[in-house]
Amino acid sequence: MLIAVGGIYRQKLAATLDAQIRDGLEQEWAAVKGYLRIENNKPIWYYDRDDPDESVIVERLKRVYIVADAEGNVLADSQGTPQISPAYESTGRDSPAEIAAALRAKPPHWTIRKSGKGVPYLIRSGAVYDEDNRKPFFVAVGRTLSDNENILREATWAYVRVIPLLILSGCLLGWFLAARALTPVLEVAQAAQRISGSNLSLRIPTRGAGDELDYLIATFNRMIQRLENSFNQMRQFSTDVSHELRTPITAIRGQLEVALFTASTVEQYREAMLNALQDTERLSQIVRALLLLSQAESGQLALQKTRLDLSKLVADVVDQFQIPYEEARVRLTASLPPECPAEVDRIQIERMVSNLLSNALKFTPAGGEVRVSLENDAGSVELRVEDTGCGIATAHLPHIFDRFYRVPGHDASGPERGLGLGLSFVAWIVQAHGGAVRVESTPGKGSNFIVSLPVAEPVVPTAEPADVAVPSGMNEL
Ligand code: ADP
Repeated sequence: MLIAVGGIYRQKLAATLDAQIRDGLEQEWAAVKGYLRIENNKPIWYYDRDDPDESVIVERLKRVYIVADAEGNVLADSQGTPQISPAYESTGRDSPAEIAAALRAKPPHWTIRKSGKGVPYLIRSGAVYDEDNRKPFFVAVGRTLSDNENILREATWAYVRVIPLLILSGCLLGWFLAARALTPVLEVAQAAQRISGSNLSLRIPTRGAGDELDYLIATFNRMIQRLENSFNQMRQFSTDVSHELRTPITAIRGQLEVALFTASTVEQYREAMLNALQDTERLSQIVRALLLLSQAESGQLALQKTRLDLSKLVADVVDQFQIPYEEARVRLTASLPPECPAEVDRIQIERMVSNLLSNALKFTPAGGEVRVSLENDAGSVELRVEDTGCGIATAHLPHIFDRFYRVPGHDASGPERGLGLGLSFVAWIVQAHGGAVRVESTPGKGSNFIVSLPVAEPVVPTAEPADVAVPSGMNEL
């Protein structure tokens, strides 16, 4: 680039110098026309010899000049001085063909002539006419080009000498700028290295410059925040699982110790065994639920969607719950539309409604009421399970869908104690169907679980089934 720029500037400088010298020569040519008269083959310079300005002008244009006739014979003035300067003489004589070309030329005639020593001259030549008989004479003025060549050479060398300096300073500037730009990146990398699984609360401080790097840092910090949340959830989950598993294991161990060391009658043995069996059942219940939940959340439990009547499905589940509700003296009512077609996974939706109904039953005291309703709106259905139970305090509402979360003081310990996994299933089932679940609850008055599910557009059944040949074996699929 430096060489290209240098080349362009050299061209420009050469063109300017050339234009200047041609301009000067044009002025000298005009001065020749003004001061030179040729009368009877004799050149006469008309100017005021006492005027220093005019003398200087004429002397200057006589440095490189010639006045000759059309055959190339140099004229001499009245004192017999030949009208050719030594400088012009050194470039040799013009051939008749050259003189003829110069005399004929309408636009200014330019030639470059070299002296015997190789000094180049730019020559402006043309015709000056005899005043009396209109005869053309060959006149030329010139200037040396070596001054311009020297200027060009010097300028080029000065530039060539500057190039290494420019390259060096360019390198230094580049190195400095790159270091300046990369230092914050290095700091970010060092800060990021300090963050590990055990200190995920560390954040990279932003620089307040509002630039791309700050944006990167903010994005990175948000990622760390998400990681920290996941880590905390995992940690909490491990603690909860070990706690949940430890309780029945301790109980089983206690029962077995009773059987081994203290029981003496068959009844005592049986009771200890029965209790141990119940705890084993709870243990396998927890493990089954966890396995199912982890399968669901890792996407291994695919939904088996079919078109069905949601009204009928909910009515069936409500029917199944009538007896336990009667036993607990809680009124269970359902207000369902005659038909509600939807494309859902039957087993999962049944599980979801069962979980909500068993929760409502668990947390509603005798004499209370639970109402199930289904509303079919354009494109979605809304299932509500409302109870008049103990309700949930606002502080606990955001956590009730977390695994193992149970509102403190809600249920007694013992075999009836919930696992805290029911609502996690509800949340997953609703999410897998592309729906949403929300809770409205007033402590002491009751809770209202609202599930909204999108329903696929109803398929218009064809009047006659299409007569399509089914290849043998396909119907088993
Ligand atoms: P659990 O097996 O304990 O019922 P869930 O995940 O189904 O677990 O529910 C989590 C917690 O949310 C429950 O322990 C209970 O404290 C609270 N909860 C759920 N449903 C209700 C309800 N209908 N009324 C009051 N509290 C409820």
